[in-house]
Amino acid sequence: MEKQNIPELFGSLVFDDRVMRARLSADVYQSLRKTIDENARLKESDAEAVAREMRSWAIEHGATHFTHWFQPLTGVTAEKHDSFISPSPDGGVIMEFSGKELIKGEPDASSFPSGGLRATFEARGYTAWDPTSYAFIKDHTLCIPTAFCSYSGEALDKKTPLLRSMQALNIQAVRILKLFGKEVKNVRTSVGPEQEYFLIDREMFEKRPDLIYTGRTLFGAMPPKGQELDDHYFGVIKPRVLAFMEDLNTELWKLGILAKTEHNEVAPAQHELAPIYSTTNVATDNNQLTMEIMQKVARKHGLVCLLHEKPFAGVNGSGKHNNWSMATDTGVNLLSPGETPYENAQFLLFLCAVIQAVDDYQDLLRLAVATAGNDHRLGANEAPPAIISVFLGEELTAILDAIKTDSPYEGTEKVIMKLGVNTLPRFSRDTTDRNRTSPFAFTGNKFEFRSLGSSNSIACCNMMLNAAVAESLKQYADRLEKAEDFEADLHALIKEVIQKHERILFNGNGYGEEWVKEATEIRGLSNLKTTADAMPHLLDEKNKEMLKAHKVFTESELQSRCEIMLENYCKTVNIEGQTMVDMVRKNYLPAIESYLFNLAQATSLMRSVSDKVKCNYEISTLERLSELTDEILERVEALEAVLEELKGYPDIRRTSEAVRDDVLPKMEALRASVDEAEMLTGEQYWPFPSYGKLLFSVY
Ligand code: ADP
Ligand code: MG
Repeated sequence: MEKQNIPELFGSLVFDDRVMRARLSADVYQSLRKTIDENARLKESDAEAVAREMRSWAIEHGATHFTHWFQPLTGVTAEKHDSFISPSPDGGVIMEFSGKELIKGEPDASSFPSGGLRATFEARGYTAWDPTSYAFIKDHTLCIPTAFCSYSGEALDKKTPLLRSMQALNIQAVRILKLFGKEVKNVRTSVGPEQEYFLIDREMFEKRPDLIYTGRTLFGAMPPKGQELDDHYFGVIKPRVLAFMEDLNTELWKLGILAKTEHNEVAPAQHELAPIYSTTNVATDNNQLTMEIMQKVARKHGLVCLLHEKPFAGVNGSGKHNNWSMATDTGVNLLSPGETPYENAQFLLFLCAVIQAVDDYQDLLRLAVATAGNDHRLGANEAPPAIISVFLGEELTAILDAIKTDSPYEGTEKVIMKLGVNTLPRFSRDTTDRNRTSPFAFTGNKFEFRSLGSSNSIACCNMMLNAAVAESLKQYADRLEKAEDFEADLHALIKEVIQKHERILFNGNGYGEEWVKEATEIRGLSNLKTTADAMPHLLDEKNKEMLKAHKVFTESELQSRCEIMLENYCKTVNIEGQTMVDMVRKNYLPAIESYLFNLAQATSLMRSVSDKVKCNYEISTLERLSELTDEILERVEALEAVLEELKGYPDIRRTSEAVRDDVLPKMEALRASVDEAEMLTGEQYWPFPSYGKLLFSVY
């Protein structure tokens, strides 16, 4: 690879602060900064000026088109390109882009899922510029990050509620900080999402209809080697993969994405990319872009990047770790233990806010990561269980215990834990004891939510997390603002929170059977195993009340989202089921039949030569395979029947239950028969590349 000047390359396709400062007049720059930092409204004339500079900058960088780039509820990003051209009287064109076009777009969006929202109001939606996320150039197009709403103001995307949740948390966190004597302009949440993915050979991919239609393999017997040797994790990166990673980094850096860490993951052909963290809405945009660019760059290298949560049975699936924290505009991380006891009291209060939030809204966090794909991972001994709990590590747990019971903390000094007074010991960052099995782990100065699936938009879990933490903080602020003795009340509050919410704290093995029993039977934690179980909780009174109170969602937005997510679950599984039927009828059964025919023919031919030949192999294989083809037929017919029934249920909730109870088990049964047949059939008869070829053919 030729030598790159990375600092020069970095952000070269982004209309970022450096560009704004260099190109905008001081006045316009100041007012845009105010909009970005303090959500101030941008004057029309300033918007005009910004648009003018954006256009000339974009054209200088090869752009011919612009688009409002948004994140509809399909989970992927959407864009509609318009060129800058505008006819001029002399028959030519000039390149135009107005302030209005920057601020607002009106995509004909009637085909995006809206869960009935738009139907009742207005067929169109509009997109509105989010100036807090920088515009960038992709494929000769100036992309303007936007929020997507209906004309009546309902959010039709993932970004709007995310921005609202950040605002909600900001309001409450600033109130709390004021009580500690800190005046800050704002508090923002930051996220660093670690992204897992698979890379497979494009030629192999193209031979597998299941991968093409559904992103995962629906059939496939295990190869002789899987991940049992642990030789892939952090192993030497193969040259083809390395070339891909280098190219990917370059493309991401140009877009100002802080791609930082890359390594092989546990499963063969599995890898991970982690960026340096950024403000949540920017991290969300960047993660969506990262996923898109991964797939594009892979194609260029003759590879395909699989972002499905469970592309292969029998080896680990892919997740995403959402490293999350809160920080002030003055650069203080609120989840970082402080230097003084007083700071640590503040730290403990924010820590408590998160603990309470996770306990009170376990179901929201669970449903925020619920998709048909992710259901295959959670609780399958490769990813956290569907039960949400919080890992704090030994030291913090001991401190909380000491506070709870007014007993000495057996740390460096033996002291009763009293908050706010000079007896609270300094504690070190507890990063040593890292528990990979916990869904929600404190890792020294941030929490890591590990239940996300690799293809999930991180917007979903962060809007829930932000809102839930805002709610805890609001309750604390309401109480402490009235306190007569702040320190005493603070201490009492923290103690109460620990007592009330300690059931959510768990430092043990989250993969164990005993934990499921303890969590559900003794602690009363929820265990929502599938999307069909989890999603309806979005409409539980307590959840709706909280999300509405913090203005993250309206009632109708919640109704529509629940509907859309369940619909997505049903449609996804339905496509998988239909694909299985198609592959079985058109390919697997005929392939096995050819092999059977060959065996039968061989047997009679051999017998005609000599009656001494036993043909044990031919006959036993033929007998078993013929049983299997009967079984496969029976099972494919059973699957077809339940898929047909899906059309007849009165509502989406009932349909989703049928998907869970009828369709998925029938799919699994069918797969088992076909996979067994694969092991008995000659390879040249088998219609699709094997797991071995899919997982081990990239060097
Ligand atoms: P790991 O050992 O899991 O790789 P790292 O410390 O390397 O943990 O961080 C993983 C991710 O967490 C990175 O994306 C990193 O930028 C992010 N991260 C670190 N500090 C914070 C923070 N304060 N807020 C949010 N994310 C953070
Ligand atoms: Mg991690």
